[in-house]
Amino acid sequence: MSTHPTETDSYPRADVTPPSGSLFPHKHLLGTWNLDPVSIKHILDTAEEYVEQNRRAQKSTPKCAGLTQINLFFENSTRTLMSFEIAGKRLGMDTISMSTGTSSIKKGETLLDTAATLNAMHPDVLVMRHADSGAVKLLSEKMDCAVINAGDGRAEHPTQALLDALTIRRRKGALHGQTVVISGDVAHSRVARSNIYLLSAMGARVRLVAPPTLLPKDVDRLGVEVATRMDEGLKGADVVMMLRLQQERMQGAFLPSLREYFRFWGLTAEKLAYAKDDVLVMHPGPMNRGVEIASDVADDIDRSAIEEQVEMGVAVRMACLDILTRNLRGEAA
Ligand code: ASP
Repeated sequence: MSTHPTETDSYPRADVTPPSGSLFPHKHLLGTWNLDPVSIKHILDTAEEYVEQNRRAQKSTPKCAGLTQINLFFENSTRTLMSFEIAGKRLGMDTISMSTGTSSIKKGETLLDTAATLNAMHPDVLVMRHADSGAVKLLSEKMDCAVINAGDGRAEHPTQALLDALTIRRRKGALHGQTVVISGDVAHSRVARSNIYLLSAMGARVRLVAPPTLLPKDVDRLGVEVATRMDEGLKGADVVMMLRLQQERMQGAFLPSLREYFRFWGLTAEKLAYAKDDVLVMHPGPMNRGVEIASDVADDIDRSAIEEQVEMGVAVRMACLDILTRNLRGEAA
């Protein structure tokens, strides 16, 4: 076990997990499956403060100055990577990003060797995305620092679910009691899984709407409602989250054709009429217009919260970086 070089002896070791009883008693953020309502609320409340800060001209604080954040992305990303970089910089961290194209992974280094290499550089936070479910957890076991899962395979994408929750809470006033429809390629979506766990924990009613081939195999164990037709699935919805077809994770034929898919499961104004009048439309991005969502619905300024989700993403990631490094800064988590 290594210690961080510090200015004072009062700094704890890097791998001190917050004591149980603290508002966020976790060393890492690997998923939402293990988050209780207190921890979730703590992140969302902390993020609220950053929403305000991010709207000011002067957006950075030196709160995390001197700490190092590494973003290690083995899969493509626009929103998540940029947002973690901006979040770290606004907290005053030294933020470094690496993608597989520039790393030794291409030269055959194993994931665990990469972990050992990065660990030797004493980062304080590692943000990682990987195409394999479970890869981020595996790496976290080898790291002294806090690890944040920025998406692993089809398993989890916790900061996406947290930013979605913040968006819903701000627009609807609460998560509890909302009927949230998650529609599209649920089977391959880590966004869906993280949202199902988080929204259920917060007392929302979750309904999945997808063709049978795009529902997860363990759907019966998820504790959600299921529909395979948009008309019945959208009835009474307060929120509709559309998902991209994750073709990179599909092996074999799951769909007839994209045209047919849009016809039956694409979100159009006509289908949206089955939901509540004040329904909120969400999408984690990247969107495939004309496949899972019609352009006029995505761009509907009254109902679409898609750009707001991106804004909330920066605030939520600042909150996560802040909370996970509080021990290092001698503050209570
Ligand atoms: N950006 C999200 C993810 O990384 C959703 C998507 O790719 O469709 O899972």
